Amino acid sequence: MLDTHCHLDDVRYDAIIDEVEARRVANRVRVLVPGVRRGSWDALRRRASAHGWLFAIGTHPELLKDESDPVPTSADGAAAIGECGLHRPSAVAMERQIAVLNGHLEVARSLNLPVILHCVRAHDVLPKVLRAFCGRSTLRGVLHSYSGGAQLVGVYASFGLHFSFGGAITWPNARRPIEALRAVPTDRLLLESDGPDQAPHFEPAVWSHKSEPAMLPALCNHAADLRKADRTELIAALHRNATTLGWG
Ligand SMILES: [Zn+2]
Repeated sequence: MLDTHCHLDDVRYDAIIDEVEARRVANRVRVLVPGVRRGSWDALRRRASAHGWLFAIGTHPELLKDESDPVPTSADGAAAIGECGLHRPSAVAMERQIAVLNGHLEVARSLNLPVILHCVRAHDVLPKVLRAFCGRSTLRGVLHSYSGGAQLVGVYASFGLHFSFGGAITWPNARRPIEALRAVPTDRLLLESDGPDQAPHFEPAVWSHKSEPAMLPALCNHAADLRKADRTELIAALHRNATTLGWG
């Protein structure tokens, strides 16, 4: 099973990384760690190689303010470009966010790598950016922690994108993420911890850790229940989908 999005290089894991890694390995979960800023790419590459993580190279839109050179030009060993995208509210003008996102999309296309997209409160803008970029072709990549609602699933799917869901589908009173989860075609679905954020809320509340890769089997059970899907078939589909993106 693959956790498609966990920031294991975040400082909030530093004191507990050994136990988090031990639980990940015990649960047979692989992980993709996205890049967030240029200054952390080299360290991420080294740690990914030491731990056996997949990793990506990119600049998180929330960290754009302090970055003068946010777009990668190469991706030595990376499994994806990202995470990148659009975020509101932000001190960074939407025009600059769009320019930086387009830079990431260009690099991903030229290196033939999938892209990891972050979009928070900007789903009025992102489809236009992607349509302008794609033209008549499609994209390979994932909308991580998808928040665009069921009604935009068809739009994003038409660009060729996958959809990844995290702990929000377990939250009490979660409605939008669950409707979206149910609307995504099985061959476009992925799951993630989005650690260390988006801690899951499992019932009964047996999970006491912050969000981490080891939660993936429980998250998968939860997603299968919500989609009224067979767990084994869902796991097989998730694996096929990860393979489609080169992460199998
Ligand atoms: Zn992230």
